[in-house]
This record gives sequence, C-alpha cells and structure tokens, in this order.
Amino acid sequence: MPADCLFCRIAAGDIPATIVHEDDLVIAFRDIEPRAPTHILVVPREHLGSAADLDDGHEPLLGRIVAVANRLAAAEGVAETGYRLVTNIGGDGGQSVEHLHVHLLGGRQLGRMG
Ligand code: AMP
Repeated sequence: MPADCLFCRIAAGDIPATIVHEDDLVIAFRDIEPRAPTHILVVPREHLGSAADLDDGHEPLLGRIVAVANRLAAAEGVAETGYRLVTNIGGDGGQSVEHLHVHLLGGRQLGRMG
C-alpha cells in the first residue's frame, strides 16, 4: 500500500471515516463533501489507481463493488427512487483521489452527465 494514499489509510483504519460497510475486498464510507443526500464511496482494499487498472482478474472485485453499492442503496432508501454509480478516471474524468472508488449518489434528482 502506498504510504501516502488517503483511501489506503482509511481502509487501514489510520484515518477516520464514517464507515458503512466493510468486508474482505471492499470498504464503503460516506463522502466527506457530500454532493447528494446519499453520497457513499465504495473502495477496494487493494490499491488500484483507478478503474483503468482493472483487468479480467478483477472480475470478482468489480462484482463485489457493484453488489455492495446496490445493497447500500437499498439500506439508504434510494433503491426505489434511483441512484447513480460513477467512477472518475484521470484529470479530464474529474478524479481527485488516485485510488479506485465508485461514488453512490442518490436521494435527489441528479443532473444529466457531462
Ligand atoms: P473523485 O473526485 O472522483 O476522485 O472523488 C474523490 C472523493 O473523495 C470526493 O468526492 C471527495 O469529497 C472525497 N474525499 C476526499 N477526502 C475524503 C475523506 N477523508 N473522507 C471521505 N471522502 C473524502
């Protein structure tokens, strides 16, 4: 794990976060600057820079990320109204933390992408 990686340090318990789910592959916690009533980050324990680093060997991890996000959406009460799962890649993609994470956003009408 890179010593200076924020999300590795949260996953290791070195930096506090409002954790809503933990298992062997992923951790999920509330975004510190929420952009919607529900804004949770689902993060692999493994350090991957972004979704661009996923390959065939990561299929179980990707499945887990989405399954956990779907379960959290139900727990947050946004499964019926709808929600968004999004992952940003690189500068033009809007990525600011270089450790793969999927945003779960819901609880309000989200704008069009772009
Ligand atoms: P992105 O811009 O897609 O890389 O998303 C990074 C997200 O991490 C942003 O929505 C930030 O608000 C969030 N964030 C940054 N630092 C923390 C932290 N210490 N705890 C929780 N979320 C954070």
